Amino acid sequence: MRTVYLNGEYLPENEAKVSIFDRGFLMADGVYEVTSVLDGKLVDFDGHAVRLERSLTELGMKNPISKEDLLAVHRELVSLNDVVEGGVYLQITRGAPADRDFVFPDPETTPCTVVLFTQSKPGVTESAASKNGIKVISIADERWGRRDIKTVQLLYPSMGKMMAKAAGCDDAWLVEDGQVTEGTSNNAYIVKGNRIITRALSNDILHGITRAAVLRFAKEAQMEVEERNFTIEEAQGADEAFITSATMFVNGVVEIDGAMIGDGTPGNVSKRLREIYLDESMKKAI
Ligand code: PMP
Repeated sequence: MRTVYLNGEYLPENEAKVSIFDRGFLMADGVYEVTSVLDGKLVDFDGHAVRLERSLTELGMKNPISKEDLLAVHRELVSLNDVVEGGVYLQITRGAPADRDFVFPDPETTPCTVVLFTQSKPGVTESAASKNGIKVISIADERWGRRDIKTVQLLYPSMGKMMAKAAGCDDAWLVEDGQVTEGTSNNAYIVKGNRIITRALSNDILHGITRAAVLRFAKEAQMEVEERNFTIEEAQGADEAFITSATMFVNGVVEIDGAMIGDGTPGNVSKRLREIYLDESMKKAI
């Protein structure tokens, strides 16, 4: 049984209890982060801590835990649960007031709820998805307008995954005003020659921690990076397509709405970026 963290305590997972009045439960009033673990170490912990701080600030919540303490909790959980490959999930909600109310509770009397748990995924770097690539469908992006805040409102992304599954695919790319925003839980890219194209940062997409790292590595490897919108049609005609996320790293996309991309296997650029990303992440993991 896993040991999890709840509001300052390490507990067996079945003893960690959160109130039914918690605003995370009633109103999706909370934010989260997922930090990948490779070789028992945290990948880009700093990036996740910085984005967490930003998400909390955007929602008018005060960070209840310092970066140093957060790092210590991450490390303790990885160690207690013997995680070698996998991740640490962190969620902070606006806490549990005495009753349900749209008005935010007073933070002085209603402390935030802080939850962390680990997920073990042995062999994640050698997954079938990484070897074969994934197939995606496109669906309308019907999420709210502040996708740059990493909130726990994941119903539409979750529905998107189910639509993809029903269509015999792995994931969905979200489309707004004819342009791809991102995947349900990842950032989306296409490759044309030596050029990597991905949507620019704005409130329309999550500012992926993996995205930032991969674009940096791509530039260092003399690839061209173009941050702009693209359509599903352009993606279907591209040389390659891929996604990035903390849990999937860099992963080739081999089919979009039934159209095969390249030769139907992950392309060379995405394979190379995946290798660089994994190598560099292992080196810098803490
Ligand atoms: N976009 C969305 C909508 C996501 O949910 C995620 C993963 N949380 C990402 C992009 C990728 O972000 P990261 O690289 O920080 O995992």
